[in-house]
Amino acid sequence: MTSDFAVQLRAASLRVTRPRLAVLAALRDHPHVDTDTVIELARAEHPTISHQAVYDVLRVLTDTGLVRRIQPAGATARYETRVGDNHHHVVCRSCGAIEDVDCAVGDAPCLTASNDHGYVVDEAEVAYWGLCPDCATHRIARDPEGRG
Ligand SMILES: [Zn+2]
Ligand SMILES: [Zn+2]
Repeated sequence: MTSDFAVQLRAASLRVTRPRLAVLAALRDHPHVDTDTVIELARAEHPTISHQAVYDVLRVLTDTGLVRRIQPAGATARYETRVGDNHHHVVCRSCGAIEDVDCAVGDAPCLTASNDHGYVVDEAEVAYWGLCPDCATHRIARDPEGRG
């Protein structure tokens, strides 16, 4: 809800502005979208918001931790408002679809590395790669001799 976002922005000592609210709302409704899609979504609701404003908002929100930036190998950066729980992602190799994957047990268990090499670890990034249901279905349905 918009009011929740306003509270979050104020808690992060950020001014509540229309571009910031628009970006947060876009990411809440469409998690894991890339910058171009955020721009599209934000401008669909508020045509006066500039591309640059969306870039700036994404940077500020990522810096302050209100938005999490994920970047699967070989893919463009994606953004989401689900932050702070160190959840993981499953990525489709074929179409790039991304879904959230909760940690298997408890809170952020993967932060306990089997060997942290003395580093102070505060984040773990896990990406599972495979095919989404749609792409898997197409692959099975495809002509096994490769003609289709
Ligand atoms: Zn797919
Ligand atoms: Zn996610």
